[in-house]
Amino acid sequence: MSDSDDKQQRKDAKHKAAMQKQKAKVDARIEEASLERGVAVLVTGNGKGKSSSAFGMVLRALGYGMKVGVVQFIKGKQLSGEEIFLRDRLPEVDFHQMGTGFTWNTQDRSGDIAAARETWEQARRMLADPAYDLVVLDELTYMIGYDYLPEQEILDAIANRPREQSVVVTGRGGGAALQELVDTVSEVKDVKHAFRAGIKARRGVDF
Ligand code: ATP
Ligand code: MG
Repeated sequence: MSDSDDKQQRKDAKHKAAMQKQKAKVDARIEEASLERGVAVLVTGNGKGKSSSAFGMVLRALGYGMKVGVVQFIKGKQLSGEEIFLRDRLPEVDFHQMGTGFTWNTQDRSGDIAAARETWEQARRMLADPAYDLVVLDELTYMIGYDYLPEQEILDAIANRPREQSVVVTGRGGGAALQELVDTVSEVKDVKHAFRAGIKARRGVDF
């Protein structure tokens, strides 16, 4: 056996031992997790990937035939692939978008608030209905940040939702109280974005 073979074998054995140790740790933790209930997830931060993460969970839930509701709190000028797909091909998903009012371009605060209220009523209805297994509240954090919706009302509706229901909130910020309330918080970090290199938002990737 050559020196390099010997070295490789020792490396393999060390790797195997480390992996076994890691597996034992993970198995023990899985064993300890005993609660079975829906989870509340917040995907926040300045990087790209918040809404697309939420729609990834929509796909997962649909795979199990679960009932899904989606409420989008910002209406962009731009249609998105997920909107087209849900509306045209998945009418069983209860999809709502803030119809009028808030975009980054309107400066009509009272109009925005009225639209936010109307949209929130859809979300509140879903959060009170045990038929929904997964509810996505896309870009909801801005409604809290701009004080368009009463924060406490949002926190209460999420906290008091049916036990088996999961909820995903996306958007930058969101505040300490929301972070405290939910079970999982992920912050997507903006390391680099194509936009800053002058690359246009891409169909199928960005919208
Ligand atoms: P996505 O929908 O792609 O998951 P997101 O939900 O994390 O993105 P939003 O703030 O909702 O981010 O904005 C959506 C759009 O803005 C997407 O086209 C995305 O590529 C773009 N975007 C997100 N983060 C950044 C950033 N840091 N700089 C520039 N553009 C961004
Ligand atoms: Mg988003």
